[in-house]
Amino acid sequence: MLLSRYFLPILKENPKEAEIVSHRLMLRAGMLRQEAAGIYAWLPLGVRVLKKIEAIVREEQDRSGAIECLMPTIQSADLWRESGRYDDYGKEMLRIRDRHERDMLYGPTNEEMITEIFRSYVRSYRDLPLNLYHIQWKFRDEVRPRFGVMRGREFLMKDAYSFDVDAEGARAAYNRMFVAYLRTFDRLGLKAIPMRADTGPIGGDLSHEFIILAETGESAVFCDRSLLELPIPAADTDFRSDLSPIVSAWTEPYAATDEMHDEAAFSALPEERRMSARGIEIGHIFYFGTKYSDPMRARVTGPDGQERPVHMGSYGIGVSRLVAAIIEASHDDAGIIWPDSVAPFDVGLVNLKPGDAVTDEVVDGLASRLEGAGLEVLQDDLDQRAGAKFATMDLIGLPWQVIVGPKGAAKGEVEIKRRATGERQALGLDAALARLV
Ligand code: ATP
Ligand code: MG
Ligand code: MG
Ligand code: MG
Repeated sequence: MLLSRYFLPILKENPKEAEIVSHRLMLRAGMLRQEAAGIYAWLPLGVRVLKKIEAIVREEQDRSGAIECLMPTIQSADLWRESGRYDDYGKEMLRIRDRHERDMLYGPTNEEMITEIFRSYVRSYRDLPLNLYHIQWKFRDEVRPRFGVMRGREFLMKDAYSFDVDAEGARAAYNRMFVAYLRTFDRLGLKAIPMRADTGPIGGDLSHEFIILAETGESAVFCDRSLLELPIPAADTDFRSDLSPIVSAWTEPYAATDEMHDEAAFSALPEERRMSARGIEIGHIFYFGTKYSDPMRARVTGPDGQERPVHMGSYGIGVSRLVAAIIEASHDDAGIIWPDSVAPFDVGLVNLKPGDAVTDEVVDGLASRLEGAGLEVLQDDLDQRAGAKFATMDLIGLPWQVIVGPKGAAKGEVEIKRRATGERQALGLDAALARLV
């Protein structure tokens, strides 16, 4: 991709409406534009990151055995009247009326709709376990939309819903999602800690928020430092096996959000292991039993031939919030530092002297070899001074920069820079390629 042909509206000034670093950097790096309070247009650089995160979330959902579907953003109010939530949900729900005066809404979540789908087709325990998920825009009319996509009103969520014949099956489903979440966030370069969260009237211990620590986080959190060192389950984890040992290892050390905090239990930890910090909720998994299947009559027959309401859980990931959360976790004074897995391009290829025949030739040759090797390259072919080019590259945070000037080009030499460490190295063309591919 040639920068001269791309759409990357970089802002030189710090936008004053941005209160936290991720919002500031997303605006400055031309990723995002606010269209109304809490409603954003994703510009090309932003959408690339969003899609990469989405792809990783999808891969890990699929690996765990969940099955993708896609439900609409607009829902009928009648479904929500059945569950009793139409009135309870309150002002966060955006209510809409169509031309026939029917009550509709822009979905804030999908428990009702998925329960309706399930009950229309599934009758027997033989069809279980089942976990259906989608990645779809949600709307919540937040009282205080702020911090950019961190707390938007329209936001992209992955939400999965599990169906099991009994509580034991539901726990196994919960464990699969738990492990899938550990893997997903690890692949996104994040240290996410599962923390005990409120289960409401259901009780029990099957609700965890996955939290990353960040000063700008909206929740106060308390946890055992040892959680930062626990190993992440491997890609070849067998999701049909009993995953409870993994879940136990991750849930035994103390970790709770302020709502669930137990000061006595926390104080019992040795001082050096106690960590109290701020956190960002990037995912939430929750077993809620028959809360929806009961009123909505989603029932299956068990092995004994008896009908019973199906046991359900729901599992959310804030896909668009993650873009901001990753930046909160990975940036410096110069800009964003993307983890390799979600970077909008792999390499920024900087031509310090566009128009110089030798430099252009080296840059074009490198671009095609890098692209040929499957890397995504953003080629800076702008006629700008070197300082401005470097500032742009550091701001947009691509993992690698390859810098080509006329002197080096004449010798067949380029400089490569790793954004995360700032380490620079002058290398011959083949060596540079070998380093990146
Ligand atoms: P919060 O406590 O931040 O309001 P929530 O508990 O209301 O979030 P859930 O219903 O658990 O959110 O939704 C699943 C995930 O969706 C959350 O863990 C979060 O990552 C994301 N999410 C929720 N609300 C928003 C929002 N307004 N903007 C962006 N992402 C959101
Ligand atoms: Mg909320
Ligand atoms: Mg919450
Ligand atoms: Mg939540």
